[in-house]
Formats: sequence, structure tokens, C-alpha cells
Amino acid sequence: MAGDYEIIDHTYDVVVVGAGGAGLRATFGMAEKGLNTACVTKVFPTRSHTVAAQGGVSAALGNMGEDDWRWHAYDTIKGSDWLGDQDAIEYMCREAIPSIVELEHYGVPFSRTEEGRIYQRPFGGMTTHFGEGRAQRTCAAADRTGHAILHTLYQQSLKHQAEFYIEFFAIDLIMDEDGACRGVIALELATGKIHRFRAHVVVLATGGYGRTYFSCTSAHTCTGDGAGMVLRAGLPVQDMEFIQFHPTGIYGAGCLITEGVRGEGGYLTNSDGERFMERYAPNAKDLASRDVVSRSMTVEIREGRGVGPEQDHIHLHLEHLGPEVINERLPGIAETARIFAGVDVTKEPIPVLPTVHYNMGGIPTNYRGEVVAPRDGDPDAVVPGLMAIGEAGCVSVHGANRLGSNSLLDLVVFGRSAAIRAAELVDEAGANHRPLPADSAEPALARLDRLRNANGSEPTARIRDRMQRTMQNYAAVFRTGETLEEGCKRIEEIYASFENVSVSDRSLIWNTDLVETMELENLLANAVTSVQSARNRTESRGAHAREDHSERDDENWMKHTVTWMDRSGNVTIDYRPVHMNTLTDEMEVIPPKKRVY
Ligand code: FAD
Repeated sequence: MAGDYEIIDHTYDVVVVGAGGAGLRATFGMAEKGLNTACVTKVFPTRSHTVAAQGGVSAALGNMGEDDWRWHAYDTIKGSDWLGDQDAIEYMCREAIPSIVELEHYGVPFSRTEEGRIYQRPFGGMTTHFGEGRAQRTCAAADRTGHAILHTLYQQSLKHQAEFYIEFFAIDLIMDEDGACRGVIALELATGKIHRFRAHVVVLATGGYGRTYFSCTSAHTCTGDGAGMVLRAGLPVQDMEFIQFHPTGIYGAGCLITEGVRGEGGYLTNSDGERFMERYAPNAKDLASRDVVSRSMTVEIREGRGVGPEQDHIHLHLEHLGPEVINERLPGIAETARIFAGVDVTKEPIPVLPTVHYNMGGIPTNYRGEVVAPRDGDPDAVVPGLMAIGEAGCVSVHGANRLGSNSLLDLVVFGRSAAIRAAELVDEAGANHRPLPADSAEPALARLDRLRNANGSEPTARIRDRMQRTMQNYAAVFRTGETLEEGCKRIEEIYASFENVSVSDRSLIWNTDLVETMELENLLANAVTSVQSARNRTESRGAHAREDHSERDDENWMKHTVTWMDRSGNVTIDYRPVHMNTLTDEMEVIPPKKRVY
């Protein structure tokens, strides 16, 4: 065996890796169903990235005007630019209503209407009557909705006796010779001990890979560890080229100003003081879909109508809303703008710029949360024992572009559905666990050993910086074959340079250099698969905007990209069909059409 490690063994029905909104909703749901459930997390649960979510969570409750979950499904399909799987979208939008009512009963302190109902605000791309009117669908707890949800779910998980392994870093999955997942190996950061978790089901809820980019709204923990583990296990990731740029990151700092600001009446202007979104999206204007607004802002800046001395950003106004609305509905935004832009939002506009925000791609799953990987001619073949949910997964409800407030919804709906499915699977598996393969810890420990003893000449931070700048420059809001080709070449070189990484400290206890190096290896796998998938897709769809292929091409490209990567960084790309079917007859399939707002 590699190294000389002390291994502590655990057996559970289910092990959830990740304690963000998705991981906690699954953990609590599984514990509530009586499953013996562990949750392994590298940061304290309520410090997970979900805590930063601001604007709200969508559900067609109809508290502030008429609404219907089918309109929500239509908006989500259109928002996805017809790359979303319609069965999963139907499931999410229908189940949104009971899922949010449950959250309310569990104790999420939502803002309220005069009548005491959950307050709902408008968000980009959310309409009524299949695109005719404007929906108020996003349920908000002021501008701290993620914070409110995360704390409630953590309390519920504790109440139902889920067991937490906090500040444990999951290194790799345990796979058996039949291709089933049987557990996960983790490093306890405080002691340096290795923990081997055996379970009927492992759920990856490790969040997104925003940190592949230089400027992003994602927490430093968003390093795509789930996708890294899956790729090392020989399984694929999906639709990695679809990376969302949020229109309103604070210029220079990258922190997010929620779309809820525009939902409350905020608007964008260029250097002429013009509300330019009226030209690009005459109906939805500033509340057009995020990809549309980000591209419009980029065009304004490119054509010389940006604001500031360098004419390189845009203004977001909310002064006209008045201090009362701002203090009640957007208190966190006022504080963020003051700290990071030095702006008093009641008096002056916020300088903003499109910033990397969300990953539509991830580990492919079905609507029950089970990981799928094309096998023997079956594009939807399930990988036994493995689930993925939240931003780590690709179910795919967001397709080529996610609508604001649909991510928190994705977390709670599919966290809940994973709990339902896990209970069935554990029931089928019975009380006995099959013995683990003899060398179950070996691949993870060999990796740990290799990185811990890495004594090359490239510091982790230098390689990470090169990767982030390359992604920022070569896989940006607008892409061309040429920039992507160059991006692939550079990322390949950077990936190869990881062979020469150096880790300064050999210790296993609180070795942040080692942890960052394991995270970097995961980030690199996400970066390689993202740029290669982007180079291959010769069309424009949602967030993937090719200047050399500016139209959507349904005939050739209405399909999901599925990407494998071997240890040497060699990539294999295949495609699987988009699900153009529904689960029930309560909703009809929405056929593709041109996407205008
Ligand atoms: P995360 O919350 O990122 O949690 C990941 C978990 O995995 C963490 O607990 C981490 O410790 C754990 N983990 C990761 N790797 C490992 C490992 N190797 N070992 C052990 N544990 C690991 N969406 C909306 O719908 N509405 C909004 O208003 C909204 N606002 C947003 C505002 C901001 C600033 C940002 C950046 C995003 C916003 N989003 C919003 C998007 C949304 O917040 C995220 O997509 C969502 O929170 C992701 O949740 P998650 O549970 O999948 O992952």
C-alpha cells in the first residue's frame, strides 16, 4: 500500500459529500427517512457557497399574481435554449411548489406579503402565459435567501441525527470491478487520518467549478472536486462548455449584485446614459436572460460605450428605488456595494461587469439524482451506487443557460428526489454490505502520496493563476474557433506542467498547500474538459456564444456533450440525446423555436 496511513473505517447506508444546499437537503431527507446517513464536508456546512445566494428560489406559488408551473417549465426550457432535458424540467417545476412549502414549514424565514404569504419578486426570463406576461415567481428571504435556506437545512439535518464529518476532504471514490461505487476515501484535515466510508449510495454534492476562472462570483471552495473524482473513476462529465457569466459582478472585485436588483426595478446604462437593454430585448429589457444581458453589455463596451476612464464597464442604477425599498428588500446589496465599490446605492450607480457565476455542466444524472454514463448503446445507463446533485450535477434542467433562482430550486428539488431514490435503493440492498475490494483505498492513497511528496519547481498558486487567466481570456463571453484552439493548447500545457508541481509541506495535518494542490488537480480536469467541449461545439447556444458560428444549429447540435478524460489529460468526446419527453401527460413537450426576449 502507498505510504503509511492510519485508516479509520465507517459503514453507512448513504454518504453525502458536500453540505451546501443540495448536500444538506439530501442529508436531512435521507436521515428523515431513517437511513443511516453521513455528510462529509471540507468546510463547515453553513460556510458552504450556498450561503452567498442572494435573490431567491423560484416556484410558481402564485402569491403575487397568477402563475402556473407549466409556465415556469416553458421559461426554463426556453432559458436553456432547448438543451435542457424536458422530463427533468417538468419534474423540477412541478415539485417546486411542495418543495418550497416544505422549506417554509421547516423554518426558512422568507420575506412576507401584507397577507403573510411568501414574498415573490420578478427575475430574468420568468414569464406568465408561455412568454406573454411577467411572473413574480422568485421566493425571497430579503437578499439573503441562500443563508436562510442553508441554516434551516443544517438545523433539520441535526434534528434528524445525520452524522457530520466536518473539515474532511474527499479524495476519491471507491469503485468496484463491476463499475459500481462502493464508498469514498477522505482526509481528516485536523488529524491527518484517513477515513474509508463504505455505503450503499454515495451522493456527490460538491458544488461548481467557478474557480477555473480568474474573475468569478464563486467561493474559493468551488473547485469542481466531484467532477475530478468522477473523471478519475473513468466516468464522464457533461456539457462542460456551458459556463454562465452573470451580468452584474462588481467591477474590479467580482462580487455579485443579485438579479433581484433588476427584479425590484434596477436598470443598466452605458456611457451615453442610455438604457441600452431596450434595444437588445425590447420586451424583457433588463430582465432578459443572463446570457443575453451579458452579451449585450459586452457589445456596448466593445463598441466604445462603456463607462469609466477605461470605458470598460457598465452602470447599474437603483438610486430611484429609494432608501425604504433598498433597506427592506436589498440590504445586503447596499452593504456589498459600499464595501467593494465604495458606492452609496441610494445616490449613485454601481459599476458592473459580466463575471463567471455558474456551471450548467457537471456530472450527468437522471431526475432521480442517479449518475448516468453512456454504456453498451444505452445513453442513460445508471452507475450503481453513485448520485450527484446541485451545481456538481447536470440533470440537466439548465441546459445551455440557467435562469436566475432556478439553482436554489434545483438543489432542494433534486436533493429531495435523491433522498426518495436512495431510500428505495437502500431498501433493495438490504442490511448487508458487500465486502469492499481488497485494494479499495489504494488509488486514493497513491494520489495523496504522489501530491504530498511532489517536489517539482512549479508552486501550486502559479499553475492555478495561469489556468485561471487562460480560461478567462480564451473561454470568455464570446468565443471563436481560434481563441478556443489556443485555449486548448495552453490548458494542455498547463495541465502537463502539473507533473512538475511542488508541495512545500509533507505533513498531513492542516496542510493547506496539499489541499489546494488536490483542488488544483480537480480544477485542471474541469478546465481541460470545458475548453475541449467548447472547441468541439460549432454553434451558438445559451451561454456558449461562438462568433464564428453565431446561430443555434438544432439539426446537428441539439445534444449533450459527454466528455471523458484519462490520467494523461487525453479527452474523449461523445454526445447523448436531449430528453424531448415528459414524465406525465400534465405537460406537453415544448418544441424548439427561436429564442427572443
Ligand atoms: P455548494 O453550496 O458550493 O456546496 C458544496 C459543498 O461541497 C460544500 O459543503 C463543500 O464543503 C463540499 N465539498 C466540495 N468539495 C469537497 C471535497 N473534496 N470533500 C468534501 N467536501 C467537499 N442561485 C439561485 O437559485 N438563487 C440565487 O439567488 C443565487 N444567488 C447566488 C449568489 C452568488 C453570489 C452566487 C455565487 C451564486 C448564486 N446562486 C443563486 C447559485 C447558487 O448559490 C449555487 O449554484 C448553489 O448554492 C450551489 O449549491 P451546492 O449545494 O450545489 O454547492
